[in-house]
Amino acid sequence: MQGAVLYGARDIRFEDRADPTIVEPTDAIISLPVTCICGSDLWPYRGVSPFPAGTPMGHEYCGYVEEVGRDVTSVKRGQFVIGSFFASDNTCPHCHHGFQSSCVHKTAVGGAQAPRLRVPLADGTLVATRDMPDVDHIPSMLALSDVMGTGWFAADAANVKPGSTVVVVGDGAVGLLGVLSAKQIGAERIIAMSRHEARQKLAREFGATDIVTERGDEGVERIKQLTNGVGADSVLECVGTQESMMQAIKSTRPGGSVGYVGVPHGVTLDGADLFFRHVRLLGGPAPVRRYLPQLIDLVFAGKINPGKVFDLVLPLDQVAEGYRAMDERRAIKTLLRPSGN
Ligand SMILES: [Zn+2]
Repeated sequence: MQGAVLYGARDIRFEDRADPTIVEPTDAIISLPVTCICGSDLWPYRGVSPFPAGTPMGHEYCGYVEEVGRDVTSVKRGQFVIGSFFASDNTCPHCHHGFQSSCVHKTAVGGAQAPRLRVPLADGTLVATRDMPDVDHIPSMLALSDVMGTGWFAADAANVKPGSTVVVVGDGAVGLLGVLSAKQIGAERIIAMSRHEARQKLAREFGATDIVTERGDEGVERIKQLTNGVGADSVLECVGTQESMMQAIKSTRPGGSVGYVGVPHGVTLDGADLFFRHVRLLGGPAPVRRYLPQLIDLVFAGKINPGKVFDLVLPLDQVAEGYRAMDERRAIKTLLRPSGN
């Protein structure tokens, strides 16, 4: 098969890769009707995060089970399944507490920008849909694998409740789906921080009631003005820089919560500053597995359509253009179609 492999900064190639095979008896092999590029793939792509040259890329996936190892009991050949970027056993204490992305047996899933993928710990990781999704639903199912699950975790971690006032920092795909999640949970006011017109439009479509274009302390000032000087109940931090993290913390009212899902790059927090702010912080790699059954039902019921974040669709062999478009912010998120699947 052929898939996407990253060699160096901005050097992504579509090239021959070995077909995945069952390695452990708990593995499954799935074929991928669609795949995509994640905002977090841009960190290594830009040379910001180190990686070994020749890394197969992609960690978001859904598709049809082709083959399972002899110990797999809960998924079968032919089923449509969705999993998370961390494989998990779903049986350890952390999994039982709903933090499958901290599973004691967690394993990163990689190489999904390809026609086929090996998923470890298939029983714990994969969730099969009751019915086969329509072709129209498949991009939304793919979004559940990471961006939608992560946006939902941001909202859950930020303690969004019906009637909440919510701020979303970051207008990438995760931030936009954080807006959608807050709306679905019942937030009354959702303030999206964005200075990009197309993204503002999608944020409004997903449920944003206000847009703030200012950043940093000016952005915080604007949030305070919009909330009668109080600050927000819940703030979703979906970027991962020092500025975005401080923007999130300072926009939160005393007693409020920050859900942070942007992978931190150079973020440091001052203990004394945090002490007097009285805010709760919960974040990290989203335990997507916890939310999959509920989110799959919401997609089937037509209540959410997270696949709308894909604003560029390319054949998989044009993966390099997909990365360029996201790097240059011409695209929010690129959907890729492997040929023949
Ligand atoms: Zn576990």
